[in-house]
Amino acid sequence: MSDLRIDDLPVRDELRGKSPYGAPQLDVPVRLNTNENPYPLPEALVERIAERVREAARHLNRYPDRDAVELRTRLAEYLTRTGGHEVTLTNVWAANGSNEVIQQLLQTFGGPGRTAIGFEPSYSMHGLIARGTGTGWISGPRNDDFTIDPEAAARAIAENAPDVVFITTPNNPTGNAVSAETVVALYDAAQAAKPSIVVVDEAYVEFSHGASLLPLLAGRPHLVVSRTMSKAFGAAGLRLGYLAAHPAVVDAVQLVRLPYHLSAVTQATALAALEHTDTLLGYVSRLKAERDRLVDELRAIGFDVTESDANFVQFGRFADAHEAWRKILDRGVLVRDNGVPGWLRVTAGTPAENDAFLDAVRALKKEQL
Ligand code: PMP
Repeated sequence: MSDLRIDDLPVRDELRGKSPYGAPQLDVPVRLNTNENPYPLPEALVERIAERVREAARHLNRYPDRDAVELRTRLAEYLTRTGGHEVTLTNVWAANGSNEVIQQLLQTFGGPGRTAIGFEPSYSMHGLIARGTGTGWISGPRNDDFTIDPEAAARAIAENAPDVVFITTPNNPTGNAVSAETVVALYDAAQAAKPSIVVVDEAYVEFSHGASLLPLLAGRPHLVVSRTMSKAFGAAGLRLGYLAAHPAVVDAVQLVRLPYHLSAVTQATALAALEHTDTLLGYVSRLKAERDRLVDELRAIGFDVTESDANFVQFGRFADAHEAWRKILDRGVLVRDNGVPGWLRVTAGTPAENDAFLDAVRALKKEQL
């Protein structure tokens, strides 16, 4: 029985033969593969988390605030202060990572008999979570330079009339941003085809040269902007994602959320992190400078680089990207092979980590010549 496999079990048909999300977690000196923030939380914040969690621990015999009111209020303040658009508690919802936000959105607006579209290559979990929620997945088009052609994308929306549209900006794994005009064009196309929900995934927006698309929420009740504390806030281990949308959307996702899904410990930790927003965003400007340095140096070495508004950079082209990935790993640096033919992705790390990465790819380039 020890060789019993997933497909020997009575799993749902759409899960047969599929693999789980699996970025390698390898123990190597330089890990630049999952778009994490390389800076540990500052000691003053670690202390504040301990304080807040100690206080929360005194009440762990009780369920947490099911509606996470204080946390959503603070998140709304953060968005209002930085996003160029006023939102309040009623516009904001939070969950365990933006992956759970996306799952709740698909449970609410997708599901069996319904479809969602994303413009690929893009964040692979959109399609995987669609599958997990029984939502049909449609792979929409991108240009060869990884930009979205608004007309081709609008045509794909008109032809398929999806229930949910994902637009990731800045996009993962390619790094480039999508303009407000394109998002508006796709929103309009999606409303004309079928009143559908348009999710703008802004997981990396704090690293962008441009502004958040939050102001587009005005007058667009089917638009959702999703965010996370995993990247700019340097708190991937916390698991806290959130969305901003019309209050009716916030009410609707509560139909599918599990009661008390955000633990009291999570809420206390996130609140402590939000008290230190300005310090944490200070790391963002350092990372943006390092990201720009990576782009410049990779180009100087002779690589093709996709324009980046994120905390990572897509570079190529390789005849065999996986082979190149392996050779960079042999030099102690873990980058990401997202399966985009010819391209790899590197997350901006500390200056020393980025130097180690640049040394590794310089050596690789010499070997290739
Ligand atoms: N959206 C995008 C575009 C991402 O790249 C990621 C993480 N890699 C997420 C959402 C999910 O992040 P989390 O669940 O940690 O908030």
